[in-house]
Amino acid sequence: MYQFVYLSISGMTLPSQKGALDTFKNSGDNKLLIATSVADEGIDIPACNLVLLYEYVGNVTKMIQVRGRGRAKDSKCYLITSKHEQVEKENINLLHEELMNNAVTVLQEKDRNEFIRQNLHFQREEKRLRDIKKNFKGPVLSKENKRLLCGRCKTFACDTDNIRLINKSHHTVIDRSFKDKYFTRVHSKPVAFGGFHKKYKIFCKNPKCGDDWGISGNYLSFQNIPLIKIDKFVVENANGTQEYFKKWVMVNFRMKEFNQEEIDESFSAQTD
Ligand SMILES: [Zn+2]
Repeated sequence: MYQFVYLSISGMTLPSQKGALDTFKNSGDNKLLIATSVADEGIDIPACNLVLLYEYVGNVTKMIQVRGRGRAKDSKCYLITSKHEQVEKENINLLHEELMNNAVTVLQEKDRNEFIRQNLHFQREEKRLRDIKKNFKGPVLSKENKRLLCGRCKTFACDTDNIRLINKSHHTVIDRSFKDKYFTRVHSKPVAFGGFHKKYKIFCKNPKCGDDWGISGNYLSFQNIPLIKIDKFVVENANGTQEYFKKWVMVNFRMKEFNQEEIDESFSAQTD
């Protein structure tokens, strides 16, 4: 049976760490060094030919460092673990290492000047995109409430203050009385998208109009949530002027995000 020495990061002073290492290096009787993460890097023992990792997985850098403690030719490194996730993580590390090696090979084969030129090009392109993002302000959004009127018959539909944004892409109206402004028909393709279950199409209730306003359906625990299409309405400003927007991204008024608590207040009692 071999004797062993122990090396720890917190329980030992620096001189005693050094003592333990020297004993392992120089004494022929101590063939085993048990260590915490303190031995991850920097320890150089040329004869070390086996590294055992016990329930110990880090990132790819750590993996390569720790494996490098086995300095001897044909040294081996094993992970001992009972945890499936650790094995998976280590396999991913191995894959990353392979990808890195491949990338290094590709880079080394490149002409140096060509490499520098390409690199500069990528950096400039990145900066250009960053600047565009920084300077893009979008349309100026007004805080004042505006009125949405049916695009065809100009009947009042709702206030823009009552429009809420669902998942940044759908637009609903939280005013209870909005339901009195439209009628529904079962949707011919009742599909689900982005957590929303399409069930009905909604139409302007004015008997002389009946224009298609959008759809209605279930979202989360809420039923009959309407989603309106902005190109079916005209927007009336406070001074009476009217504007038309083909798409929601073009509108010039602010809309709040959908808030479950707010919806609970106005919609919770409503079912089919
Ligand atoms: Zn209408």
